[in-house]
Amino acid sequence: MNDSKITEKLLKLSHELGLEPRQMIILSEGNVSALTNDGNFLVKASGTYLGSLSKEDLSLVNMETILKLLERNAMTDEEIALELTNSLLDKNHKRPSVESFLHALCLSEGEAKYVAHTHSVSVNQILCSQHGAKPFMGHLFPDAIVVCGNKPAVVPYIDPGFQLAKIIQTELKRYKKEHGKAPKLLLMENHGPIALAQTASEALNIMLMADKWAKVLWGNIAIGGAKFLSKKEVKRIDSRLDEHYRRRLLDNNG
Ligand SMILES: [Zn+2]
Repeated sequence: MNDSKITEKLLKLSHELGLEPRQMIILSEGNVSALTNDGNFLVKASGTYLGSLSKEDLSLVNMETILKLLERNAMTDEEIALELTNSLLDKNHKRPSVESFLHALCLSEGEAKYVAHTHSVSVNQILCSQHGAKPFMGHLFPDAIVVCGNKPAVVPYIDPGFQLAKIIQTELKRYKKEHGKAPKLLLMENHGPIALAQTASEALNIMLMADKWAKVLWGNIAIGGAKFLSKKEVKRIDSRLDEHYRRRLLDNNG
């Protein structure tokens, strides 16, 4: 797929996530990114709106520059602003989102080709509660396993930007070591979900399913508690051939 097609898919994903009835973001919340053919990435520019994102609101960022910055222990706000501008491959582009660090990691260590991050109301009703990400550690119905994967990765609340990306780096490494593959869904407590996907359609599907999953959990909690599937049942769905087929169809649709 050429880079202009990737841009087109990324903009479509952005507009879908920004649809108001979906309650995934308001104002300039959330961001999206995609890997380009030369291994760099396109990311939403700082302060732009997902729902009305245009080609001019996407910034082309040097992957190597961002990954190199992540080798530092800390960066001041001033350094971050300066280095983000320096990381632009096209100096006419707007300053990329402060979450470019997180996106670079999901597109490298996280093995994703498209990344979506929202502040989904339904998911945050749980992630910002006393329970944190815990209710998402069990599965309630097969489709969430098919779309969001067996287990989500989780990070506690950390100051958004550089420090958050550092903790995500650690969690992605830990997750891959434990599960032998990268996660599809990463939950940031007191912040929001991230979808790590191979296609733009998959990124949207993960966000939509996480939203539904959260709403079902909510209902369960209201009427006495969730009845989670057993580990054996979850493993069975995760490995079923017909589910793999369904997963591929879903991910390539659109
Ligand atoms: Zn955010």
